[in-house]
Amino acid sequence: MAQSVASIALHGGAGPDPSKNYDKHEAHLRELARDAHKRLLDGESAMDAIVWAVKQLEDSGLYIAGRGSSPNANGEYELDASLMDGFTRRAGAVAAMRGFRSPVEAARAVMRETPHVMLVGAGAEEFARAQGLERVDDPADYYKPASDKKLATGELGHGTVGAVAMDAEGHLAAATSTGGVINKMPGRVGDSPVIGAGTWADKRVAVSCTGQGEFFMRAAAAADVSARIRYGGQDVEEATLGALQDMKRQGGDGGMIAIDGRGRVVMPFSSSGLKRACVHKDGRVESGVF
Ligand code: ASP
Repeated sequence: MAQSVASIALHGGAGPDPSKNYDKHEAHLRELARDAHKRLLDGESAMDAIVWAVKQLEDSGLYIAGRGSSPNANGEYELDASLMDGFTRRAGAVAAMRGFRSPVEAARAVMRETPHVMLVGAGAEEFARAQGLERVDDPADYYKPASDKKLATGELGHGTVGAVAMDAEGHLAAATSTGGVINKMPGRVGDSPVIGAGTWADKRVAVSCTGQGEFFMRAAAAADVSARIRYGGQDVEEATLGALQDMKRQGGDGGMIAIDGRGRVVMPFSSSGLKRACVHKDGRVESGVF
């Protein structure tokens, strides 16, 4: 039975620099959240709405994902993305993929067109080519790294984008896309394309994470949120805060956006901030950076 409510949340990465102004990012996230919410109310599925929103985030060049990604230590752009449909539990992901404009679109194609969940590197690129996905012919010209952070050798910086939504049918979906951490080793893959670490959706909750991916992988952070709800009887707020606290004890910080089966949105973080915006199911728009 279709209901006349929907909710959506977007993030543009954890760990913003407290000395910088992110008004432009916040305004962009708010506008996209409003537009995506309208799409949901018009009957678009949660999956279609989050892919649409993440593609806008990838193309904007404002975040460390898609066009705004930073190169790895060899000067190459290796991108990661994943998504998951909470109703069917189908999922798709690409990792360390070079040369394509929208990693989230490639992840959706993996989910729809293959029997697999994740394709990486050359295999992912061959598949994306066969699917006719839009290429980046000249990386040096296309990519405009969103971060100008000067990092020492070995030091890492990071950023990512993500979206979670509940559509008018009450179905949930989550997606995450990233250029990964700045200064990463060639071939390094973080949590963002790993189902259960950076992204998760089932009938209880949809989650997209951001932060130093190694910690989120070691905590199975996104799936941990669902487990806390399922086995621990926690609500979505307790579950996300609990998952973040658990990682904090290991030395990792970051943020998450999540929506539960009733459309309740939370956007907690343990880092200096989280670029974020959402439209709650009562239509209220909320956003913030720090
Ligand atoms: N989680 C991402 C990664 O480790 C980075 C980020 O979210 O900022 O690749």
